[in-house]
Amino acid sequence: MKWIYDLSYEMLKTEFAGANLKKFTTDQVFQWLYFKNIQDVNLWSNISKTDRQFLESNYNTSLIGVVRATGDEHGTRKFLLELHDKLRIEAVLIPEKHHFTFCISTQAGCPLACRFCATGLLGFKRNLTAGEIISQILVLKNEIRYYTGKLNIVLMGMGEPLLNYENLEQALKIMTSAKAMNISPRNITISTSGILEPLKRFEKTFPRVKISFSLNASDDLMRETLMPISKKEKLADILDYFRDTKLDRIHRITFEYVLLKGVNDSTQDARKVAALLRGIPCKINVIPYNRNESLPFKTPSEQEVNAFADYLHEKGYTVIVRWSKGKEIRSACGQLAGEE
Ligand code: SAH
Ligand code: SF4
Repeated sequence: MKWIYDLSYEMLKTEFAGANLKKFTTDQVFQWLYFKNIQDVNLWSNISKTDRQFLESNYNTSLIGVVRATGDEHGTRKFLLELHDKLRIEAVLIPEKHHFTFCISTQAGCPLACRFCATGLLGFKRNLTAGEIISQILVLKNEIRYYTGKLNIVLMGMGEPLLNYENLEQALKIMTSAKAMNISPRNITISTSGILEPLKRFEKTFPRVKISFSLNASDDLMRETLMPISKKEKLADILDYFRDTKLDRIHRITFEYVLLKGVNDSTQDARKVAALLRGIPCKINVIPYNRNESLPFKTPSEQEVNAFADYLHEKGYTVIVRWSKGKEIRSACGQLAGEE
């Protein structure tokens, strides 16, 4: 039986046409799955009983399972989810002042092994399918059924989105399609450590989706040490690309900078970052390092974090310090490891 969330609109349409279902069945099914978020085929009341029986016997409509949900006092909840092959991934539900943010994963583990990241430490298991990416959103939406307001989707959980390009693209089409989830691309962000060719392709296909780039270092050598991918994907090439294409972009690029005590947090580092980003319309998110016992790094003090942020601010940059939510439940940036 096919897992329905892995099928695009076009694939489903072709299959339904082959099975002689009515022309608008695909639209109806998409509405039930992605807009109304109702998994039980028996409740799909505008579809005939015979067609529902056909759907039930040919497609699996159940979502990925929640193994456990952990919450902290701010209302952030981390969901440990189990895929069909028993691999586990994590998704995080974050209540904000005026909306909810869903932080979702694109890979089980991550092959890029950044030195400061718990997901990287885990190694790479496999890419998530489009259905596995999408169904994280449906699982989280089920948790806040009463809520119909704005959703913010950040692809910042486990994995590097641009290394799972085809499935990312299929999932984003379902997120943004008016026939499916109808989420505005403005409310979607992908976070990447910077893989230039798929990044270019992505921005052409989804020009309104926001891009966060994980900078995390003030020069090449430091970045190559902290983020091994940087040996292949040169920082200068990525920054040149951002600079050269700035007029085509609706949103400013967000640069994420994980602040590691004594490693990349000095005034000299701040000065180098200010110089690196000159000419790129951007925002800078300074993220004080979230601790992990297996890793050798330390979190700078609040004073050190503020000094770094203030320097960049004085140089004219928009800087936001992100003291992470959900640290207590290990759901903050870089702490997702599908753990038991
Ligand atoms: N692979 C993508 C998205 C997932 S990581 C990327 O690297 O952008 C999401 C963010 O968490 C990245 O900005 C990354 O730099 C940050 N991060 C990783 N480990 C962290 C840690 N221990 N503390 C704080 N942020 C961390
Ligand atoms: Fe992968 Fe991002 Fe973690 Fe680096 S920071 S290991 S790219 S998930």
